[in-house]
Amino acid sequence: MAESVLLHICCGPCSLYCIDDLKRNFDYEITGYYANPNIHPYEEFMRRRGSTVKACNAKEIPLIIEESYNIQKWKKWEGSNADRCKMCYTVRADMTAKKASELGFKYYTSTLFVSPYQNHELMKEIFEETGNKYGVKFLYRDFREGFRQGQQQARELGLYRQKYCGCIKSLQGE
Ligand code: SF4
Repeated sequence: MAESVLLHICCGPCSLYCIDDLKRNFDYEITGYYANPNIHPYEEFMRRRGSTVKACNAKEIPLIIEESYNIQKWKKWEGSNADRCKMCYTVRADMTAKKASELGFKYYTSTLFVSPYQNHELMKEIFEETGNKYGVKFLYRDFREGFRQGQQQARELGLYRQKYCGCIKSLQGE
């Protein structure tokens, strides 16, 4: 069996360049994993879910969808914005590494690493630690150089492109 990577996908547009990069640089089987309980409101969760389905179809990779949705954790957050994002990265890293471990993937990574707007170095630490916790290797990629290229592909494919990060606090501008 070829080695395999479970790619956490935050939304369709962010996934396009990441999938291209992984295909270009590795001979691994790639499976997408949509797991974003942070997204608010639910209609937005479904829009990003929809763009992810379209992106994976366009790139011809299989996709696993996690339907769980949890506004309370983000809505009731009382700590700093930085700590909230840390929690949010950790939740999604944990879901993905756990799923990768259960399904026998050797590697895992995330399309969050394409975003120039996230705390890249903090995510790197969290994904490294979480991979160790579940015995799955974190495949680190700095996808950021392809951010604009991915967004251009998303326009060409007619994918929905959101204007805020995702949680209720980010929707409210916090
Ligand atoms: S701003 Fe983005 S990364 Fe931070 S908690 Fe909200 S959805 Fe998560």
